[in-house]
Amino acid sequence: MNSRKCALCASVLSGTNRTKEHIIPNAIGGRKKTTGFICNDCNRMFGESWDAELARQLNWFSLSIGISRERGEPPKQIVQTIEGDRYWLHNDGSYLSSPV
Ligand SMILES: [Zn+2]
Repeated sequence: MNSRKCALCASVLSGTNRTKEHIIPNAIGGRKKTTGFICNDCNRMFGESWDAELARQLNWFSLSIGISRERGEPPKQIVQTIEGDRYWLHNDGSYLSSPV
């Protein structure tokens, strides 16, 4: 029998620890998922580290072009121009002055 194993920790994937993983993270608009790639524990652990960091770093991109997520909305964030002006960037791509 050819058992599939988690690509990260090599544990055997079964009905109880198999999970759906976004191919492109949800945070940047990914919809398609795959199964039989990583286990539940790795998905949860790396979702809280890798995916969260990727979402944090690409949040301005998601806000700027209005990417919608399968779950939740990208949080507004403060951006600063090279002149030092600060603005709130909202999830519709709009900018509003931010209180300093
Ligand atoms: Zn794993």
